[in-house]
Amino acid sequence: MIPTLTGIHFLLTYACPAACDHCFLWGMPGRRGMTTAQVDTLLEQVASLGTVTAVCAEGGEAFLLPTVLRHFVRRAAKMGLQPSALTNAFWVSGPAQTRRRMTDLQEAGLTRIGISTDRWHRRTVPARRVDTLQEVCREIGLEAGRMETEPERVMHRGRAAVMLAPRRPLQPPHSLLQCPHENLAAPSRMHLDCYGRLHLCQGLQPGAGSLAEAIAGYVPGRHPIVSRLLAGGPWALAQAARERGFQPESGYADACHLCYRVREFLRPAYPDLLGPDEMYGGR
Ligand code: SF4
Repeated sequence: MIPTLTGIHFLLTYACPAACDHCFLWGMPGRRGMTTAQVDTLLEQVASLGTVTAVCAEGGEAFLLPTVLRHFVRRAAKMGLQPSALTNAFWVSGPAQTRRRMTDLQEAGLTRIGISTDRWHRRTVPARRVDTLQEVCREIGLEAGRMETEPERVMHRGRAAVMLAPRRPLQPPHSLLQCPHENLAAPSRMHLDCYGRLHLCQGLQPGAGSLAEAIAGYVPGRHPIVSRLLAGGPWALAQAARERGFQPESGYADACHLCYRVREFLRPAYPDLLGPDEMYGGR
């Protein structure tokens, strides 16, 4: 049991109509997603943990699977799990269509929507679609918030580690001594994907097996990846990986960039803890 774990973000799909350079997984068209049957099974497992009070549907782009999304919201609400969702608003075509779709989700139990919009998302999704969605949510009384990633706040893991990190100022690897974004010792939220894999951070599992087994077996100080990150950040993980042949570069964009590169290298040694392929650029 992880008593601090109160939120689970369902990655309903790894697919996304955009393939933004700053994506911290590798969202793109054509990737795999959950079925309604999987949603039922995973929601039951999440509820049985006894600590989770809120769930969020995201991806990829959750609105690519409208039937699964609506099912997720309705079932989660019935279970008292306060469902929210995240979208980039690609599906918005006009006020009437948007009102129909959002009212339907609100009636199913949706409590809030986050809208991803920034310079990368706007290359695929025009800003007026975001404005329309936000205006409709205001009209129907559904809480909505914009999520904008500024270039200096990008976390260089996933596609961002490959597409953006090389263009950033680099820091020496021995200066990257802590994980800056995740509370790995006492996580309050994790992601859950269509393979049933939990993610402490994108591509990093707390343990193998079912959701309950992964949670029950999670001892941060004994986890081969997390224990190093807690002891001395990505640099400590890189030092441990040297024994297996990892050769650090002279500089990295940030702690996540080094962490991602080391984890990518270590995947063959820890296939149950570092995956799936979609988090590391595979198809
Ligand atoms: S340092 Fe590693 S574990 Fe921490 S947030 Fe960055 S990528 Fe995730």
